[in-house]
Amino acid sequence: MILGILRESDPGETRVALLPESLRSLVAQGLSITVEAGAGSAAGAGDQAWAEAGASFTADRRWILENADLLPVVNMPAPADQARLKPGAVLIGFMKPLDAPATLAEAIHRSATLFSMELVPRIARAQSMDALSSMATVAGYKAMLSAADRLPRLFPMLITAAGTIPPARVFVIGAGVAGLQAIATARRLGAVVEAYDVRAAAGEQVRSLGAKFLDVDLGGISTEGGGGYAAELTEEALERGRELITRTAAHSDVIVTTAQVPGRPAPRLIRRAAIEAMRPGSVLVDVAGPAGGNCELTRPGATQTIDGVTLLAPLNLPAEVPVHASQLYARNILNFLALILKKGELSIDLTDEVLAGACVAHQGRLVNPRVAKLLEPVQAAELEIAR
Ligand code: NAD
Repeated sequence: MILGILRESDPGETRVALLPESLRSLVAQGLSITVEAGAGSAAGAGDQAWAEAGASFTADRRWILENADLLPVVNMPAPADQARLKPGAVLIGFMKPLDAPATLAEAIHRSATLFSMELVPRIARAQSMDALSSMATVAGYKAMLSAADRLPRLFPMLITAAGTIPPARVFVIGAGVAGLQAIATARRLGAVVEAYDVRAAAGEQVRSLGAKFLDVDLGGISTEGGGGYAAELTEEALERGRELITRTAAHSDVIVTTAQVPGRPAPRLIRRAAIEAMRPGSVLVDVAGPAGGNCELTRPGATQTIDGVTLLAPLNLPAEVPVHASQLYARNILNFLALILKKGELSIDLTDEVLAGACVAHQGRLVNPRVAKLLEPVQAAELEIAR
């Protein structure tokens, strides 16, 4: 069986799905591994390291697409690549199944089996495969460093012969995996940190990092969705959060905002008024940029200066730390592969809760009801064209 490792083709992508260090157990099972030349170069994996790990190389991407039985990827390959897939190939990676299901259509036509890392259930047994958490950890860290780098102030309090410098004041919105890592990073740099999240459970974690948790009375509504995620809020509850955010922005030097609700556009929490309330030179990093952003002025991917405030909305923070982002992702993928490989052969048991949760399509048949529903209009349009 051939396992292919592609050079990721999305603009700005530097990560790779597996690293040479991940290959030992796969080679021992008898898998033949072919790597596209340059696949790991940004992630610190040069040709020599791959060769020593037992992989072969080709510069011929098309050969890998046409011959690989198993393709772990970071991002779903583009439709033109999907059209070359070996019929029945198994792909595992970030597939945006709820945000961009139509981009999977070509692979499904090729009878592919698709496992989405976004859909791995958040149960204890699957924690070692939780790639969303791995990437959010890297993103939260890098977002805070990007803010510190842009801020025309120091983070720590300094007492010097030339006077005392007060610590930077940091506000983190959304205290999930990325937010907590952003808080921890800001605390290590010596900032004073406040944080807000709709899930009350986040309060204890925020306080354990030495930050202050800002509570808002949301009128007793349920804020917990399934799997540790937040529920989508009512407009009234969102508005109460916005008021708190505008008040807190006025004394914050940095805001790092990470609020998200799975499968929905990011909640719009930060108004122009909040930015106008910040001092010139302050920095806002919108980590929710890829999902549209938490700030109403965010332009995903763009860096703007608004009233002297720098607003960053990076689209791929993990790709700015390719070595460790790839290392964590490769371990998540390797743990996932252990569920579908038995003695070097594919053995997919869709009664397994983790596999059933992550599977979007099996041998060309859509098996995830949420994705199937989203794809209905696309399929109807295709039928119309075919007629
Ligand atoms: P996420 O990326 O979907 O959201 C980030 C944060 O934004 C969440 O904490 C969420 O509560 C918050 N948020 C959403 N809407 C908001 C709003 N209107 N205002 C303010 N905040 C808002 O979530 P995530 O970071 O991937 O995970 C959230 C939590 O899930 C984690 O903190 C953890 O407790 C839990 N989790 C569990 C497992 C597991 O059980 N295996 C794994 C990972 C995470």
